Amino acid sequence: MMDELDPTSYEHFLALRHHTIRQRIADAAARAGRDASEVEAIAVSKTVGVEEVLAARSVGWGIFGENRPQELGRKLEALEAAERPVRFDMIGNLQKNKINQVIGRVRLIHSISSAHLAEAVSTRCEARGIVADVLLETNVSGERSKSGFSPDELRSAIEGVLALPGIRVEGLMTMAPAGDADAARRTFSGLRELADELRGRTGLALRTLSCGMSDDFEVAVEEGSTLVRLGRCVFDPGYRLD
Ligand SMILES: *Cc1c(COP(=O)(O)O)cnc(C)c1O
Repeated sequence: MMDELDPTSYEHFLALRHHTIRQRIADAAARAGRDASEVEAIAVSKTVGVEEVLAARSVGWGIFGENRPQELGRKLEALEAAERPVRFDMIGNLQKNKINQVIGRVRLIHSISSAHLAEAVSTRCEARGIVADVLLETNVSGERSKSGFSPDELRSAIEGVLALPGIRVEGLMTMAPAGDADAARRTFSGLRELADELRGRTGLALRTLSCGMSDDFEVAVEEGSTLVRLGRCVFDPGYRLD
């Protein structure tokens, strides 16, 4: 992306987008009677390099999201070598054999998609004497292509997952069906209702609801998202934010 664009104008683009996105989030929050300060936005950097990450940070993005352990490691190492450390969340599918590449290196793991994975992450964290902050990925829409706990699986697994000593469950995460705003809205409101139900049952705060991407973040904020994960609308000048 940077090869085609003058770095100065790319940074200008990033700054304008950052401003527009924060404004859109504030407007969506206001429509729902919420305060924009309740909604965090992370910049998903999986399609860009460390130069773009640093440029995005300089215009106000604080936390970045990666979906592949190997790419996460590559970026962390490059940024550490450059003495420009940046904080990342792990947002993508996590295989058991990659857990050690992620724990202790990210702020939050969004993608704990099964009780087995929760146990495996907890065990590896315990062995390292750390506790990982995590979200439980929930397949609210029921699409077969999506990973995550089904709502019923989550209802039955939650107590066991909460008892695991190596993880701290901060909330839930979901992905909406692509290209269908009504289905997205149902998915996000479904996540909120599930979180309410589980709060009532477990007493847990479940403070974080991670949902909303470039195409649907405003709907997500209207439906209670506290953490939107934005990739294309942040970094891609070809992405129309309309
Ligand atoms: C890529 C990705 C995003 C960002 O998607 P955009 O549509 O580019 O905003 C968010 N969440 C996850 C899990 C992703 O893999």
